[in-house]
Amino acid sequence: MTLPPFGRFFLPGPTDVRPEVLQGMVRGMLPHRGAEFETLFTRLVAGLQPVFRTARPVYISSSSATGFMEAAVRATPPGAILAIVNGAFSDRFARIARACGRETVVLEVPWGRAADLDQVREALAARDYVAVTVVHSESSTGALSDIRAITALAHARGAACLVDSVTGLGAAPVETDAWDLDFVLTGSQKALALPPGLAFGVASERFLAGASRGEQRGVYFDLVEFEQYATKNQTPNTPALPLLYALDTQLPSVAAEGVEGRWLRHAAMAARTHRWAEELAAATGIALGILSPAGERSPAVSAITLPPDRATLTGDAVVQAAARRGYVIGDGYGRLKGRTFRIGHMGDHTLETLEGCLTACGDALRELAGR
Ligand SMILES: *Cc1c(COP(=O)(O)O)cnc(C)c1O
Repeated sequence: MTLPPFGRFFLPGPTDVRPEVLQGMVRGMLPHRGAEFETLFTRLVAGLQPVFRTARPVYISSSSATGFMEAAVRATPPGAILAIVNGAFSDRFARIARACGRETVVLEVPWGRAADLDQVREALAARDYVAVTVVHSESSTGALSDIRAITALAHARGAACLVDSVTGLGAAPVETDAWDLDFVLTGSQKALALPPGLAFGVASERFLAGASRGEQRGVYFDLVEFEQYATKNQTPNTPALPLLYALDTQLPSVAAEGVEGRWLRHAAMAARTHRWAEELAAATGIALGILSPAGERSPAVSAITLPPDRATLTGDAVVQAAARRGYVIGDGYGRLKGRTFRIGHMGDHTLETLEGCLTACGDALRELAGR
């Protein structure tokens, strides 16, 4: 079977998967209530713990990341939820909270910006909340929020902090235990460079104790069940075995690089992308920008703004022109569709593969702008 070569797929999710990892999925089935599975599960959790920087069990869900966003809300004891919304995925977190019947107050932050800590402090002071939802790396805008500080602010008011770090974890520093994160979740298809279909999450003991008193936890996304089964080295239901095999294939290379090495590589790719946009703008006169201001940028995804006065330069046109050069990038997301395009410089990409993508994007932009 010929697989596409690695290094041309730069969507902000799913991201490119190395052929070895794809091939690693091809193994025979296992009974998921047996010793062989338990050995596999133990190895997977041991490989994920250093990525989350936790000694707690890492829950593995056969769902996309959104499943664990819902699990986080369902595990939250009764009370109002403050949802920090600075993009499409944080808006999804707020919608999930509402859909689960929770009183949800939205703290609006301009798209492209990180959550403003003074604003968060004020919102938390205004009334009691049981939890705050926040997206670490807002993949729709490329903004990175300070989840450590937001968690501390929430704790000071007796609220839990539920963190979507789907494009953060494995790319940007996350210290689950040291920062006392209540619940942090990610998905397989982002910075961990696996095929889509798995969600990973860690709950603090305190958050879990609160959850066990909740009555609206449902079944499939009940974190209390995930904890019970994790202590037996099993999953609550039949897991997506091929995806676990892919994870098993990928984790040794994650360990070899080290999570800190991963953080540095992602920071270098983001910095290169920002410099590229600046230099291309200076060389061509095309008014490109990075949506998020310096100091608030995700290491995993960049949203590049296009000049509003040029009809040929839309996100979709840039995506198509890059595709003609063999590269897959993302259009703007949600209300930024058309006005931005996004490069997912995450997962197993390197400065070298990124350079090829940036060259293709530069050529695409020059062609569309006639420069
Ligand atoms: C991709 C993404 C999600 C949704 O993940 P699914 O796996 O599609 O459910 C949620 N939050 C962020 C920040 C994401 O980037």
